[in-house]
Amino acid sequence: MGSGRPQAVHVIGAGPVGLMLTALLQSMDEFSVRLYEKRREYTRTRMVQLAPYLVADSIESYRTDAIDGDSIEALFDPLELEKGLAFRQSMPADLTALLHDWTLGFCPLNAIERSLSDLIDARESNGLRRSAIVISAEEAETMLESGDVLIDCTGSNSLLRDHLTPGSSGVDDGANTFKIRLEYALVITFLYGQPYDCNEYCKYYKNRDNAQYKFIPMVHRTHYDGSVSHVTGIVNITAEDYEAMPSRFDGQWLRSNFPGVAESMDRFIDKIKQETDGEIIGDLQIVRIPLDLYRARNATNRRWRTAGPSDHPFASSPVFLAGDSAIGSPYFQSISLGFESAMYLAGLLAQHDLPLKDMLDRYEVFMYKQWLRVYMRSKMIKHNKDLFESIDDPLALLDKLHIY
Ligand SMILES: Cc1cc2nc3c(=O)[nH]c(=O)nc-3n(C[C@H](O)[C@H](O)[C@H](O)COP(=O)(O)OP(=O)(O)OC[C@H]3O[C@@H](n4cnc5c(N)ncnc54)[C@H](O)[C@@H]3O)c2cc1C
Repeated sequence: MGSGRPQAVHVIGAGPVGLMLTALLQSMDEFSVRLYEKRREYTRTRMVQLAPYLVADSIESYRTDAIDGDSIEALFDPLELEKGLAFRQSMPADLTALLHDWTLGFCPLNAIERSLSDLIDARESNGLRRSAIVISAEEAETMLESGDVLIDCTGSNSLLRDHLTPGSSGVDDGANTFKIRLEYALVITFLYGQPYDCNEYCKYYKNRDNAQYKFIPMVHRTHYDGSVSHVTGIVNITAEDYEAMPSRFDGQWLRSNFPGVAESMDRFIDKIKQETDGEIIGDLQIVRIPLDLYRARNATNRRWRTAGPSDHPFASSPVFLAGDSAIGSPYFQSISLGFESAMYLAGLLAQHDLPLKDMLDRYEVFMYKQWLRVYMRSKMIKHNKDLFESIDDPLALLDKLHIY
């Protein structure tokens, strides 16, 4: 892919993953990055957590997640993992420092976006161009000149995912998307004025009197920042509940409209208060979301390239999906996977001597392994959650167990 001039890389979408990719490619002289983003400001305040494996410095520390660890060993060769770690260690120090900060606790999404965006702007420009613009699929296709690279980082409603297979002409929603709906959930966040942490015993004990609507804080989703604990967790709801709720609301709305869920939260929170003698600060913040697990069947335009001669731009220039546009998963793991896809892709693009076909194939294989990894982790979490819902009802519990 190498030529005299810097290679133009068009990154569409400056969410966390598009920004990470830009920050990585911007530090490589051979690329000139054009970053397109439709939002003018970073306003998403939701608290997110990054996986500690993002800053791992050894295979052992990369594999510490209780559920994910074995899958990593089963899916990846040690050499592949070593290469990934080596790339991480070669990343610019300013970026690595940010990653270390974020993996300490959990932080607002817009803090991640703003600090990456500021880092990119503060660096000496080497041809980076940022445009505040909504890009259409047609514009994405026509902006590609010979030798350019196009990377879609537009998130779960990806701009190009369903345009990557020839024949569908991009109008066929889902042409390149495989999706499983795991459940509907409320993501509930609140602040608590005392240190509070939670493990599986705590989740059980505090939900013991909640036959339905158990609140499940993530083990690592309680974060004490010196004076206040940030607690985030999920409550499983039915499809009917989901339809009857606005997309975002507070505790007061919940109390008036879904008293059953509010009472369950009250019982949980009362038990926290009995233990640590603190108070909730402010109100509950609640969003209702479908918890979907999905992947692009093709994370590149390889199908266009093998479909025979065509003058469509995707038949020649390479196109990649990264972040939520390629794989989406619930249970607070998506940004980390997105950052991994960005790192892997930046590492691939940097290998100038690699034939384009190999580059696309390697990215596809990597993304497929990431899919298997997150599929297994998500299904396991969902299964464990289902069992937990019936933990005090042995017959219901046995119904959910398929032992052999
Ligand atoms: C309630 C909630 C809690 C979450 N908590 C966590 C967590 O704890 N940990 C975790 O890892 N993940 C979490 N996630 C998921 C996480 O937010 C996403 O995985 C992450 O934001 C994906 O990053 P991205 O850059 O791929 O996509 P996005 O963040 O969706 O960014 C896409 C960007 O593309 C821009 N864009 C889209 N279309 C166009 C266009 N046509 N032209 C120009 N620009 C465009 C958008 O404006 C946006 O800025 C959570 C999600 C939710 C809903």
